[in-house]
Amino acid sequence: MNIINSVEEQEKLCNRLTDDNIKISLIPTMGNLHLGHESLLKASLNDDYRIVSLFVNPLQFNNYKDYENYPKTIKKDLKILKSYNIDCLFMPSKEDMILKTNHDIERKLPDFANILCGKFRKSHFQGVYSIVKKLFNIIKPQKAYFGKKDFQQLLLIKYLVKECFKNNIEIIECETIREKNGLAMSSRNNNLSIKQNRLAALVYNELVSLKKSLKNNNISLFPKLREEIIRKLSKQDIKIEYLDILCRNNLNTPTEKDIDVNIFVAFYIGDVRLIDNIEI
Ligand code: AMP
Repeated sequence: MNIINSVEEQEKLCNRLTDDNIKISLIPTMGNLHLGHESLLKASLNDDYRIVSLFVNPLQFNNYKDYENYPKTIKKDLKILKSYNIDCLFMPSKEDMILKTNHDIERKLPDFANILCGKFRKSHFQGVYSIVKKLFNIIKPQKAYFGKKDFQQLLLIKYLVKECFKNNIEIIECETIREKNGLAMSSRNNNLSIKQNRLAALVYNELVSLKKSLKNNNISLFPKLREEIIRKLSKQDIKIEYLDILCRNNLNTPTEKDIDVNIFVAFYIGDVRLIDNIEI
């Protein structure tokens, strides 16, 4: 596996590959790879030339301590990437990605970036947008892989591809991978005790029963069920940041007629913030 740290070198390699008509796939990550990431690696197995980027993006953290404490497991990550025959690991420096970049931070993002996580994590999506745009410009992938676990991020990436890349990058959407108890895999799960992990899984159980209730009835029941769930979970010290039902294509508030909807949740267990979503 080719390991590249310099933006210039990565650009040169990708220009060469593109000139040779080799199709490039990109799987962006922040490292600390788990089975969720592995599902993206698996989905890309038959592609021509597969590049994984590993960059902990400081622009998408609201809290510097959270950024500094982000788990780093590079030895283990390398093993995983090699086991999936990844062709190239791009691991750029903060200097190249942040300091030497014009970040276009004034860019107005679509309204859907200001709700859910965008409401509670100011400038998070500006940071995501800026760094993914830079990665796409360096690597010029034909395909890029993203997880539905970060559903709002996925919509933003599709918007980026439309706005800046003339829809010329195919975005492959991968299903959320969960632990046995239902909790969506996340690097942040490492920060949960065993007991907290069990509590976190209760939120997924609630999403599943909400899904059943709403399928059998209709979404007008949602506000009442939502209050019940928030009350029930708060008794277990689970603090819901948001719990919303929205159209999955544009994050608009659904009407009775809308059938393509997801439930989105963000919650705290102690000081660990987790997100999840489920299709109805
Ligand atoms: P991250 O390293 O957290 O930035 O995630 C890198 C990519 O992996 C993103 O596209 C995520 O949506 C995806 N991902 C993270 N966790 C999961 C999961 N549990 N299931 C599926 N994809 C995931």
